[in-house]
Amino acid sequence: MSASGDHVEVAVIGAGNIGLAVAYYLVRKYGVSRIALIDPRDPMSLTSAQSGENYRNWWPHPVMTAYTDDSIRLMEEIARESGNRINMTRRGYALVTRRSDPADLVEDLYRGYAGQGERVIRIHDSGSPHAAYRPAVSAAWEDAPEGVDVLCDQELIRKTFPAYARDVATVLHIRRAGSISGQQLGQFMLEAVRSAGGWLIRGEVVGAERAGPFALSIASGDETVRLCAERVVNAAGPFLKDVARLLGEDLPVSCVYQQKVAFEDREGAVPRNLPFTIDLDGQELDWTDEERAILAEDPATARLTQFIAGGIHCRPDGAESGKWVKLGWAFNERAGDPHGPEPADDHFPDIVLRAACRLQPALRAYVGRLPRGAHHYGGYYTMTGENWPLIGPMATPGVFVAGALSGFGTMAACATGSICADWIMGGQPAPYARMLSLDRYRDPELMAELAGLQSRGVL
Ligand SMILES: Cc1cc2nc3c(=O)[nH]c(=O)nc-3n(C[C@H](O)[C@H](O)[C@H](O)COP(=O)(O)OP(=O)(O)OC[C@H]3O[C@@H](n4cnc5c(N)ncnc54)[C@H](O)[C@@H]3O)c2cc1C
Repeated sequence: MSASGDHVEVAVIGAGNIGLAVAYYLVRKYGVSRIALIDPRDPMSLTSAQSGENYRNWWPHPVMTAYTDDSIRLMEEIARESGNRINMTRRGYALVTRRSDPADLVEDLYRGYAGQGERVIRIHDSGSPHAAYRPAVSAAWEDAPEGVDVLCDQELIRKTFPAYARDVATVLHIRRAGSISGQQLGQFMLEAVRSAGGWLIRGEVVGAERAGPFALSIASGDETVRLCAERVVNAAGPFLKDVARLLGEDLPVSCVYQQKVAFEDREGAVPRNLPFTIDLDGQELDWTDEERAILAEDPATARLTQFIAGGIHCRPDGAESGKWVKLGWAFNERAGDPHGPEPADDHFPDIVLRAACRLQPALRAYVGRLPRGAHHYGGYYTMTGENWPLIGPMATPGVFVAGALSGFGTMAACATGSICADWIMGGQPAPYARMLSLDRYRDPELMAELAGLQSRGVL
């Protein structure tokens, strides 16, 4: 559809999970129908296509806990009304360490679940009856308990998670956590926006002028069309800064490339009912002396011979009757340039596999012989320094940002869309919404508190 000469109430730049969610909640909460979603790519095909599609309400700060809790509630609403088209499951997140008394992790739990910690955190030590812990019996989200089970009893851990190495001493089992299909969520939202009268315009926004309403220039093939919009939303994912620049603004975000590998687990190394598992302990990888010497020689790979912080993910992927597994490790901390070629590292599959073997020794069967057809991919975590999102007004009146969703944009899309729609329409955003907007940088106390946290919740 040509947008030439058209005029909309809201133009949303970017049709990833976030732009779609903003448009969806504008329709759903405020009945806005004159919406244009603008994107040169297929909807959901950039960062949103790379998501591990996991969700959790575990964060080291109560604002992020409340925000993701709200998002999970909204996802549940969609799951309920769509016959679970978004494939929501809830086997939890299992955060694993070899430390027998991780007081810092438990402290993070109490801080994150502020006010409800006593009610939702259940400690299971060697004195507790095993029956007090209810492992996930099914993947159904409706069946899972709330809160967190902290397993400190090695016998209980071995009985519940026999695939883990025997040195695991503590498991934090976050129960309000699991997986969804982000693609289905996006498709569901796009259909709702379209059936309410919204448009999807294929093109890149290359100019934005404030002339009464905004006049957007949209490059599409050989032509550039113009669209007038009363309000504009910057939901451009890794290109948030470029869109801000069109309006003479800057945003405090950077893009950090992270990778995953998925492969067919022909040996059945990973139990199909395993929660999304994260090894929190850092490690030095297990190279042979010869490998270590070769890697250490090259400045590009020398780091792989040193200690790397934890956070190795492993999860069965797809149906319980399926065979695929996904591994990830967001250890890269260096910002990259999303305009350039993707910096995928050919060593990554081998690195993450070796690291994952420490927790799940059966994966060793694949070291040096990953199955043919293994899929190595990645995308940018677009993030602020404190790893909180940016949702709300930009400096230019009438322009809003919904982005910097780092590694949590699938799980937080619904709350982000809902909060941004409230800002746009002058509704009542959630009590914590101001802290997720650019306004937080005017709150030195909050920023100092965030700078002092021992974890930013990056997984
Ligand atoms: C490897 C990896 C694993 C992840 N795992 C998880 C996970 O398990 N759980 C989770 O919740 N999150 C996860 N995430 C994070 C999640 O994928 C992202 O936060 C989310 O997809 C971001 O969505 P977005 O809409 O902001 O960005 P995108 O999906 O990148 O969409 C932005 C869109 O804006 C468009 N655009 C840009 N500039 C313009 C312009 N000028 N004009 C028009 N359109 C424009 C782009 O074409 C693009 O389609 C992961 C991310 C990565 C990279």
